[in-house]
Parts: sequence; structure tokens; C-alpha cells
Amino acid sequence: MECSRCSEPAVLRQAYSGNHLCTSHLYQSVEKRVKSRIRKDGIMDRGDRWVVGLSGGKDSSVLLHVLQRVFGDNPTVEIVAATLDEGIEGYRNEAVEASRELASQLGVEHHVFSFDDLYDVTVDEITAGDNPGKPCSYCGVFRRSALNHASEKLDATKLVMGHNLDDVAQTALMNFLDGDVERISRHYEASLSPEHDGENFVRRVKPLRDIPEKEVAVYAQLKDLPVYLDECPNAEGATRGEVRDMLLEYERRHPGTRHSIMNAYEKIATNLDHDSIDKDVSSCEKCGEPTTGAVCRKCSLLEEVKA
Ligand code: SF4
Repeated sequence: MECSRCSEPAVLRQAYSGNHLCTSHLYQSVEKRVKSRIRKDGIMDRGDRWVVGLSGGKDSSVLLHVLQRVFGDNPTVEIVAATLDEGIEGYRNEAVEASRELASQLGVEHHVFSFDDLYDVTVDEITAGDNPGKPCSYCGVFRRSALNHASEKLDATKLVMGHNLDDVAQTALMNFLDGDVERISRHYEASLSPEHDGENFVRRVKPLRDIPEKEVAVYAQLKDLPVYLDECPNAEGATRGEVRDMLLEYERRHPGTRHSIMNAYEKIATNLDHDSIDKDVSSCEKCGEPTTGAVCRKCSLLEEVKA
């Protein structure tokens, strides 16, 4: 099959656009959509220092590669990468190595923040211990807090995350299915809205959120980026897995579904009365991080795992 834009052989079929793309037109298309999202969401300001959350997986690796390729010589913005090491032997240590290699190839300043240093506990220790709940419910909370810590330490003006179109559409659909309006409001304000009050956290942005996962994977493969592809051994299938499968099947039968979900989600979220939905935020009495209670979730979970 030929590329829809030139006579080169196609490497990817975009069912939702009806196009077939060759290698160079896939690169162009991905980079153009990232630039366009950066413009639409007002992600670039003069004097910015973007801290890219680099996991070593394909999404954040492609994001760092595209940002460095497109904006690496732009004096308006500095690009730095931060990797979290949750302490998951046989998984994260290899992903950290892949992220080091990529940052070094791209000449990007790179920092690693470990749960062991920050919280004096690793995910492996939590999993081995007699703790109720599943590792992800601890790890997810610690990860959010660790990324805020990394942003602060590295003087980030924006925390840049590698979520792709499938990720954000799954989250949107899960929030709809749960009927959780408060979470829709928080999700929108935290990482989709072009406006940010900047009071509590460094702004989180997702410039890759228009690119489907498959296109990100093909981009990473064609560029031969050093990425770590295995899934975390603790990854829970549960709801997100079900939603992912359902969405992929629906997208296969009705191309463009993920884009439609995000269009509707953003329109609905934009029109919510966020002030009346969102809970009041104060400072955690233990660590000072923003929280809606007296003690933040990270501090109460830390107390639990160390009890
Ligand atoms: Fe942490 Fe769970 Fe993600 Fe593994 S799958 S990195 S345990 S949140």
C-alpha cells in the first residue's frame, strides 16, 4: 500500500482519517499534532523549564524525543527529564536504564528519584509486606507525590506527561462509567484545561494526548528508541483493562471513537461549575502538600505501610 501523501510504501494505516502513512509522513504527522496540542493548550511560555516524566516506556520516550527534536534548540524552553524508581526489581531497574540511555542519546539533563530515598520504602517491600490493598493503590499515590517533589526540586514550570490518546480516552470513559463528576472536574483541571491557577501544583500537561497508542509504538520502533516494553508485574487488569479492550473493539468497528469521546468529555468538563464541585484544598499537617483533608493520602498510606 502506498502512502496517501507520497509514493513511498505505507507503514501505518490511520483508520480514523482514512490515510496510509509512510515513515516520514508518520513522523511529520506525530510531530505536527504535538506542536498543535502545545499551541492549543498554551503549554509553551517564555522562560519555561519543562520537566518530562520519563518512565523508560514507549510513550514518554517518544514524547521526550519529539520535544527535543522540535524544541531542543528553542531558547524559550529548557527540557529536563525525571524518572521515578519505585523499587520494582526486574522491571523498573531496566526501565530506568532505558531512560538513562535515551536521555544521554538526546543530550537531555536527567534525574532519577527513588521511593527508597523519598519514602524509605519500595513497592517490592510493600508487596512483600502484610499490607491491605494492592501495590498500585499505594504506588499511584506515591508516584503523584514523587512527581510533584521532582517538579519542585528541578524548578519545573510545567510537568510534561506522556499520556497518549488511548490513555486519556480510557480515563474519560472510566470517569463516565463511574458517574464521578468530581473526578471529571479534577482530571480536566489537573491536566487537560489550558487554564491553570498554579496555586497548588506545577501544571501538568499532556502534549501527546492526540496520538493513538499504536502510532506512538510505531514511531518508537521506527526511530529505534531505547525503550523498555514489558508491563509492570503488578499491573492490575481490572477496570482499566476492561475499558481498554472495549474501547479498542469499538474503535475497530467505529474509527474515530477515541477522538469523539475526548471532544465530548472536554466540552462537558469545560462547562462544569468547578468551584462548586471541587473540595477545598488545604496543606497536609505532616508534609505540607495540598490535600482536601487534614493529612494527605500519601502520608496516611506511609503510616499504614510502616506500622
Ligand atoms: Fe506502580 Fe502499579 Fe504502575 Fe506498577 S502498575 S508502576 S505498581 S502503579
